[in-house]
Amino acid sequence: LRQNIMHPIPKNEFTDVKKIYAIVSGKGGVGKSLVTSLIAVGLRREGYEVGILDADITGPSIPKMFGVSGAKIDSDSKAIYPVRTHNDIKVMSMNLLFSKEDAPVIWRGPLIAKTIEQFWTEVGWGVLDYLLIDMPPGTGDVALTVFQSLPIDGIIMVTSPQDLVSLIVKKAYNMAKQMDIPIVGIVENMSYAVCPHCGKEINIFGKSKLEEEAEKLNLKVLGRVPIDPQLTALCDSGEIEKAQNLYLDSCIEVLKSELKE
Ligand code: ADP
Repeated sequence: LRQNIMHPIPKNEFTDVKKIYAIVSGKGGVGKSLVTSLIAVGLRREGYEVGILDADITGPSIPKMFGVSGAKIDSDSKAIYPVRTHNDIKVMSMNLLFSKEDAPVIWRGPLIAKTIEQFWTEVGWGVLDYLLIDMPPGTGDVALTVFQSLPIDGIIMVTSPQDLVSLIVKKAYNMAKQMDIPIVGIVENMSYAVCPHCGKEINIFGKSKLEEEAEKLNLKVLGRVPIDPQLTALCDSGEIEKAQNLYLDSCIEVLKSELKE
């Protein structure tokens, strides 16, 4: 099936990427961009070369989380180049190409999809161990085009507890299956809260159904990220790289082992 529906487009001569992962969610607002950032920071702390392709064009929050929103993009006649965060993670996002951060992207799907393709074909990513793609939420045509045209090695699904048991997750799961792209596993965001006084976990949404639901779909649980006010503050101040706790150790370990394969 994949052969019939895939139209991989070639990379440019300035790009040499070992592994490409797409971070997906069934709907917006579950913390997909934050999880993408945490994974990127975690891999970078381990010394890997990491890039983030922000394909969530209608809500491009990656540059803001890393505090590079106003950064100038370099280009020459051959390619345009991603900006570098404080810790040298390479980022490309629509947000960097518009001078006004709050300008809405009022483009139709095909044009958005084309732009994301260009983030792959015309951006000089250089040598990377990992390129993480922060996907548009849902299973619409933009997501479909990205899956078809970029050589994605695996998908990481992000859900919130309420979202987990819904059809939205199942749809995102089925899309990946139909595209024949391996699903690395699932991350539950806003999984629980930590009491600021005693440090105890509070299961705001009741007992987690993550293990149970993941087993039904035969998915690996890559991690659970709590609601952490420190993370919110770091997202807002553009200092996500300073996060003390990334909560995603096992996800990082799985991605490290995939690189060795
Ligand atoms: P999505 O990409 O799914 O639309 P984001 O990752 O942009 O969602 O998250 C939106 C905002 O919600 C973030 O900027 C952050 O402030 C907050 N947020 C998300 N997850 C958490 C969390 N686990 N703890 C604290 N704040 C969070």
